[in-house]
Amino acid sequence: GLGIAVTAVALSLAACGSDDKSDAGGSKSGNKIALLLPESKTTRYESLDRPLFTAALKTDCADCELIYSNADQDAAKQQQQAEAALTQGAKVLVLDPVDGKAAAAVVAAAKAQNVPVIAYDRFIDGANYYVSFDNETVGKLQAQTLVDTLKAAGKTTGNLAVINGSPTDPNAADFKKGAHSVLDSSGYKVAAEFDTPDWSPDKAQAWMEGQLSAIKNGLVGVYAANDGTAGGAIAALKGGGVKPLPPVTGQDSELAAIQRIVAGDQAMTIYKAVKPQAEAAAKAAVALAGGGKADSTSDFKGVPATILDPIAVTKANINDTVVKDGIYKVTDICTAS
Ligand code: BGC
Repeated sequence: GLGIAVTAVALSLAACGSDDKSDAGGSKSGNKIALLLPESKTTRYESLDRPLFTAALKTDCADCELIYSNADQDAAKQQQQAEAALTQGAKVLVLDPVDGKAAAAVVAAAKAQNVPVIAYDRFIDGANYYVSFDNETVGKLQAQTLVDTLKAAGKTTGNLAVINGSPTDPNAADFKKGAHSVLDSSGYKVAAEFDTPDWSPDKAQAWMEGQLSAIKNGLVGVYAANDGTAGGAIAALKGGGVKPLPPVTGQDSELAAIQRIVAGDQAMTIYKAVKPQAEAAAKAAVALAGGGKADSTSDFKGVPATILDPIAVTKANINDTVVKDGIYKVTDICTAS
């Protein structure tokens, strides 16, 4: 309720210290908040999540100090980064886990030091808070847009290739579940399916290349779980001389994907507004760091949560989504090549 929220803000402000830096304590008494992101091949993390979280934290708590690390898809490295953050005195861990299950060890280490953990984008059992999108809906929107695109082109049967995300990412399972809930009753045949290790665009490309001779004749569409894997699939299709390109899905509204959509090489992507996600995470982190409670609009597997809505993006609504929200300018998208 509001009472709790007001208390949390008051507590967090107190915990963030006063402006007077000549206190007996000497140096500033700001809270340390750790943001631990999983990889950097997907552009969102370094170009959106990191700067937007940094800005939101600054707004909510001027004296808070950010400890940042990126694990480059290495779960062991991420565990070390989390331990280092705890050693440095982080009051809260905002963790986007490379491996959702392995992150339980991080939660245990944090709990032992009374440090709350916010599961950022990917769910972690035992977390104190969760901020993400409705990820099953992401998969449904991707698959439904693929089916709609095929039907609009008069194709009612044929083969699909399905490229999922990393088996260690809990979101990947949700995207896959949502996608299959549409594809399995669509009349098309899932002729080949792959779970992409580490969400690696190169591995998605190599897999697609390996499938081409077997499935390229009846291939009508490719479900790719994000823009990185979509880019790999499209490169494989082009390299294999598949013409015209079948519709390919994606996710994240990466600039390269938006450009492929404009060029007609990719059918759709998903826009997940990272700004409200980063802002909700920063707000929750400041509240929890101050010993307060974080506001939540929902509950996910027993964890208080903020769950945001994903939007399907095709050529028709690029302007009304990523351009309108200021993610890209038209001139960013339409560069002369
Ligand atoms: C995120 C996606 C991202 C993928 C690869 C998922 O957990 O929700 O936005 O494309 O990981 O990093």
